Formats: sequence, structure tokens, C-alpha cells
Amino acid sequence: MKTLNTKKEVSALADSWHAEGLRIAIVPTMGFLHEGHLSLIRKARAKADRIIVSIFVNPTQFAPNEDFAAYPRNEKADLALCEAEGADLVFLPTPDEMYAPDASVGFTETKLSKVMCGKSRPTHFQGVLLVVNKLFNITRADIGVFGMKDAQQLAVIRRMVRDLDMALEIVPAPIVREPDGLAMSSRNVYLSPAERRNALCLRRALDLAEAAWRSGDTSTAPLLDAMRGLIEKTPGAGIDYITAVDADTLEEVEVLRRNTLVALAVKFGKTRLIDNTLLK
Ligand code: AMP
Repeated sequence: MKTLNTKKEVSALADSWHAEGLRIAIVPTMGFLHEGHLSLIRKARAKADRIIVSIFVNPTQFAPNEDFAAYPRNEKADLALCEAEGADLVFLPTPDEMYAPDASVGFTETKLSKVMCGKSRPTHFQGVLLVVNKLFNITRADIGVFGMKDAQQLAVIRRMVRDLDMALEIVPAPIVREPDGLAMSSRNVYLSPAERRNALCLRRALDLAEAAWRSGDTSTAPLLDAMRGLIEKTPGAGIDYITAVDADTLEEVEVLRRNTLVALAVKFGKTRLIDNTLLK
């Protein structure tokens, strides 16, 4: 496995792979890798000949009051995991390598990035789209693999690929959970033992949605009330949002149907957790 720090070297290697007729997948991450990230690498392996994992805590997707500086990092462990999963290349740029000091072109998405997480993080998805687009260009990727844990991010990226006629294929990967149901996240390390226990209310609330869907109870309002009630009675849980939306348009739905995304964001102390379930 190779590790590279510069855009130029990554693009040169990717060009040489394309010259050999190989298909390239990019798995963008912010590092501190866990089983969720590794499942993306496995998914990439099934779809492509060469896998590039990027590890970059992207400053443009954090607001000044957010956890950019505190975001957990462990480069050595991450590289060992990528190697064990059979990644071909890990791209580890610095912010200065990624962004010219006088960079002046960015992205504006006017719809999907404005709802859900976009309400409390109004500049977040602009930063995500910018870095993802740059990574697609640098790595010459034919395939981009993204986790459904960040379902809004997936929807926004798919919209970018559609609206800008980008040639690459976006491949979603299912949410990987801890044995007790908590969705894996690099940010889970911020949780105190009590918060970690209380955070299980997210999964329990989503269980209500899955049970309602299975039993044919498709009215959204009472379901969201029940989910809200369950989370509100959990110590330390502060709801940011709970919603049921179409997974592609992110428009709210009054009646559950296939492809409805039931999603929530809840704060425990300073830690904001997101989770969701896609009704099939
Ligand atoms: P991050 O490092 O948090 O920016 O995540 C990088 C990629 O891993 C994104 O596509 C995430 O959606 C995905 N990811 C993070 N956590 C999980 C998880 N528990 N299950 C599946 N994918 C995940």
C-alpha cells in the first residue's frame, strides 16, 4: 500500500492506473477509522480494481464553533487498518496542500443542504461538496463510496453528481453499528460512559419507525411524536431534529412509504450524534 501527501503524485498514479484500464474507487474519510469505514473499503474492493482512501479532516466543513481542532486523529492505526483491508493508496493531504491560500471558487447547493443538519450547520455541506469534488478530480475516481450513516451527505453528493453531469458512480454502503445498536462514529469517543448508555435511545427511536412501517402504521406525525417522547425522557439528550423525508429529495413526508428516510440528530453534552433508518 502506498501513502501519498500531494495531489500531484496521487493524480499521476491514478492516471497510470487508468492507462492500464483499471477502475478506481475513492473512499473519502476524516480518519480515526472504525468498522463503518472499513465496510466502505470492502464495498469499494468489490466494485473497483484500485482503492484510494483519503484521510483528511476537512476544515471547510466545520464552522468556527465546531470540533475541527478536537476531532480525533490516529494516523498510525488508520494506515494499519487500510493496509489490512487491502487499500492500494492512502491520500493524506494537509489543509495547505488541499486549498490554495487565495482559493475563491466554491459550491452552492440551494435545497438539500438547507434542511435537517443544514439548519444547525448552514455551511457544512458547502464544505463537503467542495472537498468531495476536489477528491473526485484529484483521484480521477470512477466510483465514490459513501456511508448511509450520513444519509443527507449521500443525498447532497448524489444531487451534485446528477446536476453537474459528473461521470462517476456513487455507491452507498449500509450503516455499521456497535453490537448494542449505536451507529459507529469517530465522534463516539467524545461520549462519557453515561452518555454512551443514553445514546442508545437513538436506535430505540428508530426501532419505533421500523416497527410502525412493518405493521403498516404509515402516518408520520404520531410516529415522530412517539420518537420525540422516547428521546426527551432520556437523561442528557437534546433533540436537534427528528424527521421523515424522501431519501432522494429530503422533502418531508406525511405518510411513510418506500424510500422514506427517518432521521434524527441528538446532542449529548457537546457531542452531536446523527442516525437514521431507510424504510424499504
Ligand atoms: P467520516 O470519517 O465520519 O467523514 O466518514 C467517512 C465515510 O464513512 C462517510 O461516507 C460516512 O458516511 C461513512 N461512515 C461513517 N460511519 C459509518 C457507519 N457507522 N456505517 C457506515 N458508514 C459510515
